[in-house]
Amino acid sequence: MTPFASAIEEGLVGGRLWLYSNYNCNLACTYCLTESAPDAARRMLDRSLISKIAAGAVAEGFTSFGVTGGEPFMRPDIVEILLELESHLPVLVLSNATLFSGRVLDDVRRLAGKRIALQISLDSASPRENDEMRAQDNFEKVVTAIPKLVEMGIHVRIATTGGDRTADEDAALCALHRSFGITDDDHVVRPIVHRGRAASNEMGVVATAHDLPAELTVTADGAFWTPFGPTVRNGRLDTDMLLARTTFPLEVSIAAMLEVAGAKPAGGDSLLNIR
Ligand code: SF4
Repeated sequence: MTPFASAIEEGLVGGRLWLYSNYNCNLACTYCLTESAPDAARRMLDRSLISKIAAGAVAEGFTSFGVTGGEPFMRPDIVEILLELESHLPVLVLSNATLFSGRVLDDVRRLAGKRIALQISLDSASPRENDEMRAQDNFEKVVTAIPKLVEMGIHVRIATTGGDRTADEDAALCALHRSFGITDDDHVVRPIVHRGRAASNEMGVVATAHDLPAELTVTADGAFWTPFGPTVRNGRLDTDMLLARTTFPLEVSIAAMLEVAGAKPAGGDSLLNIR
């Protein structure tokens, strides 16, 4: 067993390896951690690099992949990337589900029956409440896309961000996702994190590295302690949770991760909490 696999088994780190596929997005939500928008810098992870990282992750003992951004489906090659990742390990991909029509929807169909879960953002059963922080007509686009994806046989999860709903609003949201055949186990709710655009808009909870999942996260700019680490504020990448500027081979960022997690004697290149 590799040291990283042992650390996963001991619960020191998570088994999912996150990849930030790109940072641009067709939306520009008020609480976005990465200041994503249509004109945001793409910061794209090169596909050949993703292939190498994926093979290395299996050898290191990772148990699954996560793909996020930005909006991953802004990339024309994302389905190919997801299928390649899935040939190694199960995949969770985060999406706003607003690009699923025409050619993109046809391409997405290829994810059906695979070990790929599509986690879609939906913040409220009320179109007005949902759209307030996301985009006009976002609710309508999402509730139109979800049944199509479920019908195709794609594993759909719902992610709800923010916690200012009443008990009745929560019940309405759960009734809505259940009406799509999405179980409570596939509904995740999390607070807005006070980073990125959320921090600029004075929203969310302040979280330290220890409050956030210890899941190695690789971006075009380096490797981070958690998927909540590589955030952008005022156009600048946050580096307080940066582990290493090296994205490949994974040994470099893994050594830094294990050092920070306390699973390895000090002496790596960890930059955690150093800006
Ligand atoms: S929160 Fe998600 S959907 Fe909204 S702008 Fe950011 S990346 Fe795009």
